[in-house]
Amino acid sequence: MSTGTAIEWTEVTWNPTTGCDRISPGCDHCYALTLAKRLKAMGQAKYQRDGDLRTSGPGFGVTVHEKALFEPLRWRRPRKVFVNSMSDIGCPALSRVSRMCWARGCRSARISDQLTRGLPVTVTEHAGWSL
Ligand code: SF4
Repeated sequence: MSTGTAIEWTEVTWNPTTGCDRISPGCDHCYALTLAKRLKAMGQAKYQRDGDLRTSGPGFGVTVHEKALFEPLRWRRPRKVFVNSMSDIGCPALSRVSRMCWARGCRSARISDQLTRGLPVTVTEHAGWSL
């Protein structure tokens, strides 16, 4: 489910996937990793899978939320969306199929996406976008 947010530069966050694995020192202060631990402790359903403690952490195991994948198709008006605020679509653990579904969901919707990525991935290959 997308959620309203207090982040001033966006309208909603949309997390069809959650969790990630650290791959470089640039991930040392990953806010999502820290937040996932808190959300798990709060009992949030999306954050109950733990990742490998060497690369991830509590509540931060890579998970595809299938029900959320096509959620944008139900949106009636364009909106600014912070996509995958709690994951990284470039995470190697996400399968190519998941990436394609995710990209297709975005492309089908009338959204103004805000995509932040720490990992390189050729989303354009899957979605036909120009990023
Ligand atoms: S790639 Fe991004 S989401 Fe993944 S662990 Fe690193 S900083 Fe966190």
